[in-house]
Amino acid sequence: MKNEYEVVIAGGGPTGLMLACELALKGIKTLVLDDKIAESPQSRGATIHPRTAELLYSRGILEKFIEKGKDLLEKDPRLPLYHYAVMIKLKMYMLDSPCNFTLWLPQKDTEIILQNHALELGVDILKNHEVIHFEEHYDGVVVEVKHLENKLKFQAKYLVGCDGAKSKIRKISNIEMLGTNKTNTTLMADIYLDTPLAYSTQCEFSSKGVVVVMPAGKKLTRFVIISDSIDKNLKENSLDLDLIKKYLLDICGHDFGVKNSHWISSFGNANKLAKQLIKNRVILAGDAAHYHLPAGGQGLNYGIQDAFNLGWKLAAELKGWAPKWLLDSYQTERIYAGKMLMESVKKQESLLFRTSESDIAFRKYFEDVIIETDEVNKKLTQEIAGLHINYQNCTEDKNKLIGCRVPDLELFEDFNCLNLYNLFSRGNFVFICFTHQKFRLPEEFKDRLDIYHFKYTEKRFEFFKTKYLLIRPDLYIAWASDNLQSSVSIKKELNYWLKK
Ligand SMILES: Cc1cc2nc3c(=O)[nH]c(=O)nc-3n(C[C@H](O)[C@H](O)[C@H](O)COP(=O)(O)OP(=O)(O)OC[C@H]3O[C@@H](n4cnc5c(N)ncnc54)[C@H](O)[C@@H]3O)c2cc1C
Repeated sequence: MKNEYEVVIAGGGPTGLMLACELALKGIKTLVLDDKIAESPQSRGATIHPRTAELLYSRGILEKFIEKGKDLLEKDPRLPLYHYAVMIKLKMYMLDSPCNFTLWLPQKDTEIILQNHALELGVDILKNHEVIHFEEHYDGVVVEVKHLENKLKFQAKYLVGCDGAKSKIRKISNIEMLGTNKTNTTLMADIYLDTPLAYSTQCEFSSKGVVVVMPAGKKLTRFVIISDSIDKNLKENSLDLDLIKKYLLDICGHDFGVKNSHWISSFGNANKLAKQLIKNRVILAGDAAHYHLPAGGQGLNYGIQDAFNLGWKLAAELKGWAPKWLLDSYQTERIYAGKMLMESVKKQESLLFRTSESDIAFRKYFEDVIIETDEVNKKLTQEIAGLHINYQNCTEDKNKLIGCRVPDLELFEDFNCLNLYNLFSRGNFVFICFTHQKFRLPEEFKDRLDIYHFKYTEKRFEFFKTKYLLIRPDLYIAWASDNLQSSVSIKKELNYWLKK
């Protein structure tokens, strides 16, 4: 029937579009509704961190993002170093990842690439369609939409709210947000400069505030202005270039020669996480589920990672094979990840937003000494990269590998070597046997599991001793065993993940 879908996604930002791609990859009939008339010329986010890049790479689409970044920046957009509270000390290049960089790319371009990919996969996308209401029934949702002067209705089995921080879906569902309220306002201005500043993030501190300067495009430079004297209730219509100049002069003593602005905006420091992500047939993801001060460029990344966690689970539910607990694990795992995100943002805020003399002295010590310590540097790099997230605490299994992010293992078979992440383009589970005995793919799992046999993997990993490795479509370990198993016990483990 027309207007009938398995999933309707409210919101065509990075989260909604990525989720649509993941669902379509698994053959789910998906509609994305977005209230924007056209693509926005402005970009809030500009970074794709390593974990997100790994996931895009596993689906074979990362190259498109890198190529676009090269075009825009006219140099390699893969940054080997990234900042922590605007201290450019994080050694992304040291990460054990095929994506050991932060990719610079304006959010609008990320959205265009994802949108084109979603269309190629058969997703329906309707712009200028605002979700205004919905009603839940025992086996689905009816979504009410405003388009021009018309009201339309769409039916779906599930409605996913990817409609940003002010989510209407969250409000109608009455899902509470927990966390801290806004206490200050930060100004942000994308400015055209005749001579662009050096293409790296820098900042200037004084007792009056902080000015962060970073690249925003070929001739575009982004200024972020932090000051206690900025009115917390500043109205968007009072933002203009004169105000930006005034603060630059106040804080830095010079105005960087700013003349023409592309976009002037502001944001607050509320840090909030939804109390639940699933309520009956409504699910939240991305900024609709968590929003925060954009200190480390993590928001868009967590949204895309939500989509990778949810996509295959929701598809499994709709295809009818999901174990009872599987969809709920989206909520457990991503609330856990969301709490880690909130902690990360608060730490960065405390280093960036305090400008008393003693705060500046501590910051300097942190920058010169603490963050230079190998162990601290590694931890903070992994935190911003998103590689620190694992779901070990979300399972009761004692095997320490279960729930971990799997690295991009090199897998050897006689003279051939293959990289693990290349096995995930279909979005399936991957089961690897490092045994002589061959295990045959059960017919009933053909649409969701790929089996491979290899001789061994790299010695540098604890995986070297592993005999069996079952990996989820989002590159986390589902099951691992060091012992030879009978085909009956292997089937039992596969059934746990792959069968109702
Ligand atoms: C200043 C700033 C800088 C940032 N920098 C970074 C960064 O460098 N890196 C990073 O990772 N993140 C960054 N972020 C955060 C990032 O922009 C967000 O986390 C990201 O946009 C979230 O994506 P989303 O798809 O969940 O929501 P959104 O991008 O907000 O998309 C929601 C979509 O839903 C649509 N919509 C809303 N309501 C409805 C409705 N009722 N019906 C239909 N459609 C609707 C909206 O028009 C929009 O298209 C930054 C944020 C800010 C404010």
